[in-house]
Amino acid sequence: MTITTRFAPSPTGNLHVGNIRTALHNWLLAKKAGGRFLLRIDDTDVARSREEFVEGIRTDLAWLGITADGEERQSARFALYEAEFQKLVSGGRVYRCYESAQELDLKRKVLLGRGMPPIYDRAGLALSEADHAAKAAAGEAPHWRFLLDHARPIEWMDGVRGFQHFDPAQMSDPVVRRADGSWLYMLPSAIDDVDMGISDVLRGEDHVSNTATQLQMFAALGSDPPAFAHEALLVGSEGKLSKRLGALGMAELREAGIEPEALVALLARLGTSQPVEAITDRDALAAAFDLATFGRAPARFDEAELHRLNAQIVHRLPFARVSHLLPPGMGEAAWEAIRPNLAHISEAVDWWQVVTGPIVAPALEAEDRAFIAKAADLLDAQEWGESPWQALTHALKEATGRKGKPLFLPLRLALTAQEHGPDMGALLPLIGKNSALDRLRAAAS
Ligand code: GLU
Repeated sequence: MTITTRFAPSPTGNLHVGNIRTALHNWLLAKKAGGRFLLRIDDTDVARSREEFVEGIRTDLAWLGITADGEERQSARFALYEAEFQKLVSGGRVYRCYESAQELDLKRKVLLGRGMPPIYDRAGLALSEADHAAKAAAGEAPHWRFLLDHARPIEWMDGVRGFQHFDPAQMSDPVVRRADGSWLYMLPSAIDDVDMGISDVLRGEDHVSNTATQLQMFAALGSDPPAFAHEALLVGSEGKLSKRLGALGMAELREAGIEPEALVALLARLGTSQPVEAITDRDALAAAFDLATFGRAPARFDEAELHRLNAQIVHRLPFARVSHLLPPGMGEAAWEAIRPNLAHISEAVDWWQVVTGPIVAPALEAEDRAFIAKAADLLDAQEWGESPWQALTHALKEATGRKGKPLFLPLRLALTAQEHGPDMGALLPLIGKNSALDRLRAAAS
């Protein structure tokens, strides 16, 4: 059987790291099996859905390299929902109700006051056709509820949570359609999962009770349900469902210099028993992806960890991947020399400036100035070979007896005006002989 997964965001806001994690996991699940990953835009709520968010979802997924094998929009599928809905009407699996939000609220409060679970009393189900006709004559339109089958216990083997059991008698019949004819999320999603051939639904554990309800919808639609798995939610590093996390979007991460590879590597493994590693190879991530490694405890998202991982990823990004992000003229050798010192690619420009100059000559002690003057003489006289840094430091050591920090630090300062930085062996050839001589002479004077 081909594995087909889907990511089904509602375009009512920007994606945040939690949504992206779900998208990524569905993508990895499909990729591992050589299956298909579909994007479904859940835009049945016309009032709250916005085109700019649809665009944003596509942009964010593209940035992360999470490519969909197909895209559907619920707003283009209303005819299908209507047809399936009519079958449920005929089969008596949906029924008309008229309670207002206030009336429902009151019913709930009364039940809770008596210490009973606030389950809908199915008053709508008791209405006769004459009652409905009277409502219609009074200008009252019904909303519709799905009739749960109380005789049929709900059970499934969840891919993350293991065996799940729900008693439908302890659940309210869900509203599936509003009085204005618009759809709530639950039924269209089940209809789509059937129609789109979804084999596996992987989503957050906030959907567990929806799954219980939807399993009865699949049965009522005459279809086998997909396999379900619910992952623990993402929480902030402080262990709580933080506001910050719910708002942390891709645009902000991009601006902070986070590379998509870093976010993918982190989110792929967060909340699993597999170690978070700087893995840039998507096939490797997919091959290792395994629901059995998912824990039930909330997964902690730590921005500091993301930045650390980002640095590790930047250190191994090949030139071809980053060349368009580098300052003009900065070539492969420079990238390879500089990248170990970067936490974010954008910092490359600062080091390239150090290479190309001009730099501000450091103020050195007299003794170091004499040492640097000696370095200039030796460099001037020396053949500019394959490894000018090794040759220079070797000659200087012989000539002055200096070694370790007193040998290297004044040289680094004179040549780069920085106390720390990329390996001088790689940097000096990039600076070049003339420029290096100028810098040494400036620092010596
Ligand atoms: N649109 C729903 C949501 O964003 C989809 C949930 C699902 O994956 O079925 O919560």
